[in-house]
Amino acid sequence: MGKPVNSLKSPRFCGIRTFQRLPHCTDVAGNDFAVMGVPFDTATSYRPGCRFGPAAIREASAILKPYHHVLDVDIFEQLEGVDAGDMDIIPGYIDESFAIIERETDRICSQGVVPVLLGGDHSITLPELRGVHKTHGPVALIHLDAHSDTGDDFFGKPYNHGTPFYWAMEEGLILPEQSTQVGIRGPLYSRSAWDYAKGKGMEIIDGWQVHTVGLAETIRRVRERVRPGTPVFVTFDIDFLDAAYAPGTGTPEVGGFTTHDALALVQGICPGLKLVGMDMVEVLPEADHGAITSFAAANIVHAFLSCLAINHRG
Ligand code: MN
Ligand code: MN
Repeated sequence: MGKPVNSLKSPRFCGIRTFQRLPHCTDVAGNDFAVMGVPFDTATSYRPGCRFGPAAIREASAILKPYHHVLDVDIFEQLEGVDAGDMDIIPGYIDESFAIIERETDRICSQGVVPVLLGGDHSITLPELRGVHKTHGPVALIHLDAHSDTGDDFFGKPYNHGTPFYWAMEEGLILPEQSTQVGIRGPLYSRSAWDYAKGKGMEIIDGWQVHTVGLAETIRRVRERVRPGTPVFVTFDIDFLDAAYAPGTGTPEVGGFTTHDALALVQGICPGLKLVGMDMVEVLPEADHGAITSFAAANIVHAFLSCLAINHRG
C-alpha cells in the first residue's frame, strides 16, 4: 500500500524517479491503482522513440502535488498507489510483447487494482484491453486522440498503432455503443476510414466538432452514452493535443487542443464513472522541447487520478 514521498519534507527534485514520487513496488496488492510503464514503440507508423515515454512522464511528474483544487480532492487522502515499474516487453516482437502486456494488465486488474499505464505507442492498448477484459468484461472506451486507430491492417499485417480499436471491437473487448472517440482530425487515407467504427455504433466527435460545440457539450455527449455501472477505460493519445502543445509525439496533427482543453475534458468526463483503467500513450521525448509534452502527459494522468479519488470518496 503506497503513498508518495512527502514533498514538504523531501524537496520534489530529490530522489529516484517514480510516477509522482510513489513507492516503487512490483507487488500491487492492496492498492487502489498501480502505475506501470509500457515502453513498446515498434508498432509505430512514423517516428519511433516513445519507448522513452514512461521515463519522461515520470521525470515530469515529480513536480505534481496531491491536492486538485478544481475537483477539491487530495488524491492520497483517498487512494493508495504504487509505481510498479516497466513491463519487460521485447522490442520489435509485437505478438510476444502483447502477451506480456496482457498478462501484466491482468495481474493488476485481477487484484482489484486500477492500472494506469504509460506508453509506448498506441498498439499497447489492445493487449491492455485483453487483460482488462479478463476481470471486467467489455468496457466503454473513452478515447482522446487525433486518430481513430480503427484501421484493420497496415501493410497487410494486423497490429500497429493505427489498428488497436478495430481489433478491440472485433474481439468484443469494448462496447462501441457506449464508447466515444474525441478529437479525431487530420488527413485520412480514405473517405471510408471511419466507416467501420461508425457502423459498429462508435461515436466519433471529431476535432472540428469539438471546437464547434465546445467542451461542456462534448463532455455531456460522452457521458450520456455510458450506462451506469459499465466499466470504463480511458485511453489518451497525447497527439490529441495540438502539435504546438505536444510536439513530442510520433504522428503530430495540427488543429488540435490545448492542455487546458484536455484537463477540462478528463475532469469533466470521468467523475462518477466506473473507471477500471487508463493509459497515456505516444509521448516521444526526443521530439519534445522543454518537456512540454511529458509535463502535459503527467498532468493529464494527475487529473485522471483526481477523478479516481473523487469516485473513491463517493
Ligand atoms: Mn492513437
Ligand atoms: Mn494519435
